[in-house]
Amino acid sequence: MLKVQDYRPQPFTDFTNPENVAAYQAALEKVRAELVGKHYPLIINGERVDTAERLTSINPCDTSEVIGTTAKATIEDAQRALEGAWEAFETWKAWDMDARARILLKAAAILKRRRLEACALMTLEVGKNYAEADVEVAEAIDFLEYYARSAMKYAGFGAAETTWFEGEENGLLYLPLGVGVSISPWNFPCAIFTGMLAAPLVVGNCVLAKPAEDSGMIAGFMVDILLEAGLPAGVLQFLPGIGSEVGEYLTTHPKTRFITFTGSRAVGLHINEVAAKIQPGQKWIKKVVLELGGKDALIVDETADLDVAVTAATQSAFGFNGQKCSAMSRLIVVDEVYDTVVNAFVERAKSLKVGTGEENAAVTAVVNEESFEKIRQYLALGKQEGQVLLGGEAPGEWGGKKGYYVQPTIIGDVKPEARIAQEEIFGPVVAVLRARDWQDALRIANSTEYGLTGGVCSQDRQRLEQARAEFEVGNLYFNRKITGAIVGVQPFGGYNMSGTDSKAGGPDYLANFLQLKAVTERW
Ligand code: NDP
Repeated sequence: MLKVQDYRPQPFTDFTNPENVAAYQAALEKVRAELVGKHYPLIINGERVDTAERLTSINPCDTSEVIGTTAKATIEDAQRALEGAWEAFETWKAWDMDARARILLKAAAILKRRRLEACALMTLEVGKNYAEADVEVAEAIDFLEYYARSAMKYAGFGAAETTWFEGEENGLLYLPLGVGVSISPWNFPCAIFTGMLAAPLVVGNCVLAKPAEDSGMIAGFMVDILLEAGLPAGVLQFLPGIGSEVGEYLTTHPKTRFITFTGSRAVGLHINEVAAKIQPGQKWIKKVVLELGGKDALIVDETADLDVAVTAATQSAFGFNGQKCSAMSRLIVVDEVYDTVVNAFVERAKSLKVGTGEENAAVTAVVNEESFEKIRQYLALGKQEGQVLLGGEAPGEWGGKKGYYVQPTIIGDVKPEARIAQEEIFGPVVAVLRARDWQDALRIANSTEYGLTGGVCSQDRQRLEQARAEFEVGNLYFNRKITGAIVGVQPFGGYNMSGTDSKAGGPDYLANFLQLKAVTERW
C-alpha cells in the first residue's frame, strides 16, 4: 500500500566528485546530439498537433544558439483541448486513486533514469549550472513521489473524519474539481511545471498545461515522460503558447474550473481578477491557486556567526543568478556589525565565477532580453538609491559569447523605502540595508508587501522565537540559506502579495484541487 511515510527526498549529486562532472558533460553531449534542434508539438487528446507558428528556445548564455522549438497553441487549439479534457474527465475521475498514483510513480522512475538528460537540457535552455539543474530535477522527482503517496489519504468514503451520530452513517468524500489550467514560470521549468500538473492530476482532475515561453522544451520532455508512464489521452493537454493569448483565453473561459498559477505578482493578480468575473454559461466559482513573487530578506544581527551569515547570504542571493522567487534580494544587517558583514559578503561574492551553464559557472546569464533590460534599469536606479559595492553592470557578453550576462551586484546603504528595496528585480542584485538594531531589522524585513521567504542569522534564542512568530513570510529559515525548500520537508508558499500560501509539497496541497461532499444515510 502507498503511504506518504515511505516518501524520501532524492539525494543531490556531489559535483566535487570528478566522475559526476564527467557524467554531466557526457549528458550535455548526448543532449546536444539528440535533443538540441528538436521540435515539441502540442499534445491534445493524446495526439501530437503542430501549428503554423512556433516558439523558439534560445540559450541565454550564448544567444546565437537555438536549442529547439515548440508549437504555439492558438485559441482554437485551446478550445479543443478544453473540450477534450472534459470528455477525458468522465473516465479519469473514476479511476482508483492508487492507479492514478502509480502513473506518477512510474514517471518518477523514468525521470530518475533520465535525470542527467533533463539537467543538461535545462543547462542549455535556461542557463542552469550543474548543481542548480540537479536539485531541480530532484525536486521534480520528489513532487511526483510525494503527491502520489499523499493522494492516498483522500481516497474513498470516510477519508476525512466526522463525529459519530446515533442512527446515521455520516462521512466525507473527496471529489476532483474537473478541468483546470496550470500556468508555470521558466525559472523552475522542470520541477514547478511538473508539480503543478501532477498534483491536480493524481486526485482525478484533467489539466491543460501551459509552460513559459522560454522553457517549452524541458516541459515537452516532461510531458513525454508522463505519457510514457501511462496517462490516458486527454487527461493532460500540452499547450505551449503565449500567456497573454492562450493563457488569457483559458483563465477567462467559463469551462475552466480551476487555475493553478506560478509567476509574477502582476500576472497573478490579473488572473485573480479575470477569474473572479463570471462568464455567460459559467456555473462555478473558479478555484485560483497563486504562487507569486518575493522581496526576500535575510537579517544578520550582532550575535550571528559571521561565516554562516556570509555563506547563507551568498548562496541565497546568487544561486541561479537570483532568479528564484525565494532568492535573497535584501540583506538587512544591524549597525554594530554592518561593515564587517558587508565587507565579507562583498569579498565572497567577488570570488563567484561568471560564465556559461555548460562551464558550470556560479553565476550565468539571466533568462531573456526582457529580463536583462529590466535588470539593467534597476542597476541604473540602484546607483541613485545606494552605493554600488560590487558589480553594477550588465555587459551582455562574457568570454566572447553574447548572452544576457549581469554582474553579481551588491548595493549598500539602501533605504528601506527605496524602489530597489521594495520591488522584485529577479536577477543577481542585492540591496543591503542598515538597521539600528534587531527590532529595527525585523521591522524593515516586514516592510514590503511580499512575504515569501526570509531568514535570520542570530545566536539569540529570544530573537529567533520572536521571528518565528512575527516575521511575515511563508518560509522562514534560521542560520542557513533561504532558498532550496525540499518537497515534504519544507512545504513552500508565501503570504501577502507572494501568493495564496497553498504550500506546494506540503501535507494539504492536494486539497486545493478537491471538493468535499458530506453524505448522510439515516438507517
Ligand atoms: P510571468 O508572470 O511573466 O509568467 C508566468 C506564466 O504566466 C508564463 O507561463 C506566462 O506565459 C504566463 N502568462 C503571462 N501573461 C499571462 C496572462 N495574461 N494570462 C495567463 N497567463 C499569462 O512570470 P515569469 O515566468 O517571469 O516567472 C518569474 C516570476 O515567478 C517571479 O515573479 C517569481 O518570483 C515567480 N515565482 C514564484 C514562485 C513561488 O512559488 N511563489 C516560484 C517561482 C517563480 P509567457 O511565458 O507566454 O509570458
